[in-house]
Amino acid sequence: MKAKKINKLQLSNDELLRYNKHALLEEIETDGLETLSQKHIAIVGLGGLGCPIAQYLSTSGIGEITLIDNDRVEETNLQRQILYTEADIGDFKTDVAYKRLKVLNVNININSFNVRLTDESINLIKNVDIIIDATDNFKSRSSINRMSLILKKPLIMGAAIKMQGQVAVFRNDLYGKPCYNCLYDDIDDESNSCMDLGVLSTLTGVIGSLQATEAIKILLGFGESLESKLLLVDLKHMGFRTVKISKDKKCKICNQND
Ligand SMILES: [Zn+2]
Repeated sequence: MKAKKINKLQLSNDELLRYNKHALLEEIETDGLETLSQKHIAIVGLGGLGCPIAQYLSTSGIGEITLIDNDRVEETNLQRQILYTEADIGDFKTDVAYKRLKVLNVNININSFNVRLTDESINLIKNVDIIIDATDNFKSRSSINRMSLILKKPLIMGAAIKMQGQVAVFRNDLYGKPCYNCLYDDIDDESNSCMDLGVLSTLTGVIGSLQATEAIKILLGFGESLESKLLLVDLKHMGFRTVKISKDKKCKICNQND
């Protein structure tokens, strides 16, 4: 196979070789590589979803990645959180992830913050191009949704419980689009996370990979995204279904920010 003609000089020859399989895609090409190398993505949550998201975005050459999580690695994480090993138990996920991702791709800038994202720490994500929500409960998702509306950033949400998952893209950067709270209105679900319910190891890989895919598509503007749509994934019966998300005119969260 003949390599594609390369005109741009921003990326080094080594990088052009590294991302060659992306350069060969007509949806990406070398211009797309350049674009990705100048983008900044925040990943909130470094658990089952955050691990594959961070890995794929790192190997894809996203210029800057901000990692936010305040948990330490636990033994029960190892079944699905593929950035961590037994030797990492007790260490902060952000510290371990930083080291592993740097080994995966030394060219990218990684900022890691061992904090819980709150209104006080919202500045950590104010310069990103996309926010990816990889947390595991409604309360955090609701809070990240609100922050993404305040900052006017696109939000890519993912969820995984048992053998079922969801992915949705909320264009909170655009006017008049539905937000996460239009879909789920303040559900109290302290007990409804995978910590209590169990989750199939590969499900988090599938959902996280889909979130990373949507991020690349939004940054490069190709294909059809899950904008204002909810993808429902059922691995037990291997079913994939997409439903439209409508704006809730009574939504207290996005109507306030419009
Ligand atoms: Zn809303």
